[in-house]
Amino acid sequence: MVSQDKTAKVDFESLLRIFTVPEGPESTLTQIEDRLSLNLNEFLKEHIVAEEKPLREIEKDFNDSLLPESPSFVSEHTQHLLDTLVSHSVHTSSPSFIGHMTSALPYFLMPLSKIMIALNQNLVKIETSKAFTPLERQVLGMLHSLIYAQDDDFYAKWMHSAQHSLGAFCSGGTIANITALWVARNNAFPADGDFKGIEQQGIFKALKHYEYEGIAILVSERGHYSLKKAADVLGIGRESLIAVKTNENNKICLDDLEAKLVELESNRIKTIAVVGIAGTTETGNIDPLEDIAKQCQKHQCHFHVDAAWGGATLMSNKHRHLLAGIELADSVTIDAHKQLYIPMGAGMVLFKDPHAMASVEHHAAYILRKGSKDLGSHSLEGSRSGMAMLVYSSMHIISRPGYELLINEGLDKAQYFADLVSQQDDFELITDPELCLLTYRYIPARVRLALEKASGKNKHKLNELLNGLTQFIQKRQRENGLSFVSRTTLTPKQWDSMTTIVFRVVLANPLTTHGILNSVLNEQREIAKMAPSLHKQIDSLVSTIESKL
Ligand SMILES: *Cc1c(COP(=O)(O)O)cnc(C)c1O
Repeated sequence: MVSQDKTAKVDFESLLRIFTVPEGPESTLTQIEDRLSLNLNEFLKEHIVAEEKPLREIEKDFNDSLLPESPSFVSEHTQHLLDTLVSHSVHTSSPSFIGHMTSALPYFLMPLSKIMIALNQNLVKIETSKAFTPLERQVLGMLHSLIYAQDDDFYAKWMHSAQHSLGAFCSGGTIANITALWVARNNAFPADGDFKGIEQQGIFKALKHYEYEGIAILVSERGHYSLKKAADVLGIGRESLIAVKTNENNKICLDDLEAKLVELESNRIKTIAVVGIAGTTETGNIDPLEDIAKQCQKHQCHFHVDAAWGGATLMSNKHRHLLAGIELADSVTIDAHKQLYIPMGAGMVLFKDPHAMASVEHHAAYILRKGSKDLGSHSLEGSRSGMAMLVYSSMHIISRPGYELLINEGLDKAQYFADLVSQQDDFELITDPELCLLTYRYIPARVRLALEKASGKNKHKLNELLNGLTQFIQKRQRENGLSFVSRTTLTPKQWDSMTTIVFRVVLANPLTTHGILNSVLNEQREIAKMAPSLHKQIDSLVSTIESKL
């Protein structure tokens, strides 16, 4: 804890020092920096306490709402952070934490991000981000060419053009999705005669002018919740984000999509966009993008692909065919802070047509003047950091083939784990990995047989008990702090669409080994034994079911 010396006073001289000279080589902070750069993983392992502390306990360290009235020494405060904050942080970079889309980071991003923070450029306008603005435009160009592969002339013409934009760099997939749908909405209701465009006159007048009764966005039922937020902030309403059915592989059902498009049209509801998913958050599946593109063309609506997580697969020449059709999308979301191994706060949306973003262009008197190259004239966000620099650096340091190795490794590992799960007689694979994400659950052979044979109430009752067991295992595993898998709820067709709680695993950390995957299953098997009363209920229900056969 900080020894709060109540008599300590702030003086201007020492305040000036925090803006000029850092503490000497002996200071706690400098030592920590050295340790961080010498061996990041050791540092984290040493300082993060494995066993989970209840949130309520942690909150006690963050309970004082009064602003500090006396200053602390940097070293003292750093120690305070180590004790209260670092110690109970989640070890997201641990190779046995395989439940998140957040993975380990390459070491060079730590020192490079210090350069970024030191320069403190504001990407909203050229005035505060010379060099960073062209760099960010280049990064957008790189991602654009990864998706759309236009020729050199295209990029020479548009990448640095003041009036055009290949996309927007933003804080994440949520803002990227909102930006894409914002553009789609505005392009669907452009200025026409008296009407000055939806961006000027709003939804009510737009609908009246174009004689529509409403607006809709379509996405499969596996759509990310950020799309609901988008429908809400864009004034369309969450109910107007319409869920299209999925098939047994969690992919959008094309017949249902067509039916919904036709129905909306006949009700004079304007579908402003269909969203295809390239890597669903829960199961990692990819929609049939080529087919969706065809339907969008037929119905004249914007085709957006949410590839926040799966988009990085395009780096792999071996696997990029899985996303075939993405190049037909009008816009694509990619999160660099997921499978491009960039720290949090790096999302992008790319537009096929460099003119597409004109409908959201915004100018102001003192900045973002017409004809300026200010990125802020096309972005939802205002002041923004130079995060694109880290993407730029990673692209150069790792390079496309390096990313390909990382992606291929993740997919291979997911296949290995899927095979491993399938070989166990007390686990079952629920969804096969199409990318590096899969789901499974613990279910002893005898229980599985009973669940297959059971019907009606008993079947649901047994499934409920298994859900309880999955939940118990996942929670206890997290509390133990040795390893982590996440959990989600699915309605697998192989189990008659019963609500099924599953373990969810994302294998993007290159440091995760086959040995670790084996021990994750072993740990879950051991934890399963620690729920005797659940087992008793399961066993007795299984016996009842067996006796009826
Ligand atoms: C993660 C994710 C998002 C949201 O991205 P954030 O960066 O968390 O805002 C959107 N869509 C999909 C498919 C995602 O996986």
